[in-house]
Amino acid sequence: MVEATNFIEQIINSELESGVCNEVHTRFPPEPNGYLHIGHAKSLCINFGVKEKYNGKCNLFFDDTNPSKEKTEFVDAIKEDIKWLGFKWDEERYASDFFENIFEFAVKLIKDGKAFVCDMSPEEISKNRGSLTEPGKESPYRNRSVEENLDLFYKMREGAFEDGAKCLRAKIDMASPNINMRDPVIYRILRQTHHRTGDKWCIYPMYDYAHPICDYLQGVTHSLCTLEFEDHRPLYDWVGIELGFSPKPRQIEFARLNVTNLVMSKRYLKKLVETGEVDGWDDPRMPTLTGLRRRGIPAEALKDFCSRIGVCKANSEVQISYLEACVREYLNANADRAMGVLKPLKVTISNYPEGKIEQLDFEINPNEEVKRTRKINFAKTIYIDEDDFSLNPPPKYFRLKKDGMVRLKSAYIIKCDDVVTDENGKVIELICSYIPESKSGADVSGLKVKGVIQWVCENDAVDVEIRKYGHLLLDEQYPGQDFAERMNKDSVTVFKGKVEPEIMQGDEDKAYQLMRTGYFKRLNVGGKPVISEIVSLKDNFNK
Ligand code: ATP
Ligand code: MG
Repeated sequence: MVEATNFIEQIINSELESGVCNEVHTRFPPEPNGYLHIGHAKSLCINFGVKEKYNGKCNLFFDDTNPSKEKTEFVDAIKEDIKWLGFKWDEERYASDFFENIFEFAVKLIKDGKAFVCDMSPEEISKNRGSLTEPGKESPYRNRSVEENLDLFYKMREGAFEDGAKCLRAKIDMASPNINMRDPVIYRILRQTHHRTGDKWCIYPMYDYAHPICDYLQGVTHSLCTLEFEDHRPLYDWVGIELGFSPKPRQIEFARLNVTNLVMSKRYLKKLVETGEVDGWDDPRMPTLTGLRRRGIPAEALKDFCSRIGVCKANSEVQISYLEACVREYLNANADRAMGVLKPLKVTISNYPEGKIEQLDFEINPNEEVKRTRKINFAKTIYIDEDDFSLNPPPKYFRLKKDGMVRLKSAYIIKCDDVVTDENGKVIELICSYIPESKSGADVSGLKVKGVIQWVCENDAVDVEIRKYGHLLLDEQYPGQDFAERMNKDSVTVFKGKVEPEIMQGDEDKAYQLMRTGYFKRLNVGGKPVISEIVSLKDNFNK
């Protein structure tokens, strides 16, 4: 028996022990009506985690019972995203694969006197449903004979009635304290082309009725879903019992993932895309998996985050800083280092020979056991970041100041001898001298210099747009504040920077730590390469 690490695994363990089930089969059930987001990553990790742990199965199940919103484009994107996370599903199934079976099961319910055709409009049905304190009213069509119901239901399928003119309802209990059990609609008439079955059907089953059937027909043993379905479980079980499913799949609910400063509702994400507030579903600020991937968030870091937040039964909100910490931890261990400056400031090294280019060793990742280095160029003209020089430094300022010294990463100690300003007093160039004996790795200068800063060499540095991001949503000012009021209008900051050529070559998706700046990757924005932030770096120099 495996060791249970959460309540779902505890349930499965006890079922395996008591023999209620003897294999484990889950499914991930997206509706192909949009892109997956980080909340779905949690559901994926749980469903595929159970499969791996129990050596069971996990299907990819597309819940496509709502043809008006579903598209093949979303099916394809969902599959890409799951593959990116590294999960392999056993079978790819669709609710629409089972439309015929679902229909036949409805016929069985009618024959058993458990379902009836109702002529009330959707508005009337919802008006008669009652409330939490009042029972609902029975439909006047509730006691139609089995023969009449069968006749009408077949006619519904044949297209004899207008959309919405009739529906099929389960006959359960209009006085049930659970509103989902008050004769719920299980089939509706809808003339809508389906992305897979085309115009074959003009009636479609409702999710709550179709889902337990699809689970059963796939051999799913544990139907894992989020807490909002808890109230739907009695209906899930009712369908299984009335249709005599054995073994009956079991629904278990877990808490949704919510993350501060992230929009997690598909509806609202769609709005952001449609209003152009973001540049599409894969905008690097989006919490969609396609956005996170394009942003450069490693799949491993995302899975690590999901596993660390765990599986619980109560809804809660996870701090976005926790996700960022997981990403940072992964990239700190795995990303190559490179240098770049967001705000280039020219530095001329007066005592360095004109035209000389020296090749220095640059350590690729200090966390690696076996040290690897690559060569970087050093020459008379270099650029440092404007923020690493101050004309009026505060006490204990260890970066560069007039007459002060600083070490250039992997190179030499330099001293600032002179400052060139423009007519507005803005510093536009530094005239420095370098200490030849202070070469990194072979420093015999005896100088003690506290600050180390990054730089790039004029000869090969590439001018490039560098983008840093803020969160799409600002902090909540009061609980439940509307997303629209929290939109961060300033979530992209653009710099005209310079980077080492290294980061402009090779794999676009390779992550780099730009030293003292953050983790970045290249991004293709309308055919133009941009250096785009993955996650910030904890800065040693608090501003
Ligand atoms: P919709 O907004 O259309 O209801 P949804 O976010 O519920 O979409 P589905 O495609 O229905 O998305 O979800 C697929 C699976 O992912 C479901 O089992 C759902 O419970 C789960 N899921 C969705 N959002 C989250 C979340 N934030 N945390 C954990 N699981 C989630
Ligand atoms: Mg849903």
